[in-house]
Amino acid sequence: MPPSAELLERFVDLHSHTNASDGTLTPAELIALAQSKNLAALSITDHDTFAGYEMALPIANAAGFDLVRGIELNSRLLVAGATQPRFVHVLVYFPEREPSADFHTWLAEQRAERRDRNQKLVQALQDRNVEITLAEVEARGRSIAGRPHFARILVDKGYVRNFEDAFKLYLGEEAPSYVERESKTTVEVITLAREAGGIPVVAHPIRIGLPRAVEFETLADFKKAGLVGLEVIHSDHPLALQTYYRTVADELELLPTGGSDFHGTVKPDVELGTGRANNVRAPYEFLEGLRRA
Ligand code: AMP
Ligand code: ZN
Ligand code: FE
Ligand code: FE
Repeated sequence: MPPSAELLERFVDLHSHTNASDGTLTPAELIALAQSKNLAALSITDHDTFAGYEMALPIANAAGFDLVRGIELNSRLLVAGATQPRFVHVLVYFPEREPSADFHTWLAEQRAERRDRNQKLVQALQDRNVEITLAEVEARGRSIAGRPHFARILVDKGYVRNFEDAFKLYLGEEAPSYVERESKTTVEVITLAREAGGIPVVAHPIRIGLPRAVEFETLADFKKAGLVGLEVIHSDHPLALQTYYRTVADELELLPTGGSDFHGTVKPDVELGTGRANNVRAPYEFLEGLRRA
């Protein structure tokens, strides 16, 4: 059945996080917020876990709210001539089909690897006389503890003045205590997503940080590897950039998608559904495109 005219006039948010990863709202609170904003649909795209989506699903079903299964995965991109890899976030949507059992197994392995990295990072920080334990980090991170949780602890304990300094001085790639997390290449993640029955979409392309021509060729390569969509609308994309990415998506025959990347109070300037200063408005047809893919 084609969507009603009323639905086609409404908006969706295809990129959001709960406190199952690094957001601050519970899955139930996020669904309530999405309803209060009159969104036609929401995708929960936590990092490396479906736990938040799975908690939200019965609540959404009971309310007759359209919730889409999604996830956000990190990947590594080697750029010709550069020694450091770039990191590309890949959103994977499952609007119609359930992920394969193999995909769930793979995710569990990713989480184990992350825990390993967190342990090493705790050690590296302790070696720099920071008082921190893995238990403390995991208490904040629930199923997925990550560097944002480390950052908040460093701020709360007064080792740094703010979140940015935590990354600059302790957690980021330039910091002496940086510990890299093993990650698959972007092409590998795209392949895995397709094999799992999901729809891979490159998230917030601006954050890859490539010059436009290189970025275009890179996206063309991803498309050849099975990429389906490009996140055109995102809180980090000013309107002019959204227009640009829409032309890129059209030229490469990638589906345009969009979302706020809402994280709750850790990113207080980003609102669910509408992003930063109202720069996000993802039309319902974006979700229709994913459903038809
Ligand atoms: P992890 O997956 O644990 O390695 O943490 C990665 C997350 O840390 C990213 O998704 C960002 O939200 C955050 N992050 C990484 N680098 C920075 C930075 N320089 N400033 C602020 N947040 C960052
Ligand atoms: Zn996040
Ligand atoms: Fe991301
Ligand atoms: Fe995100």
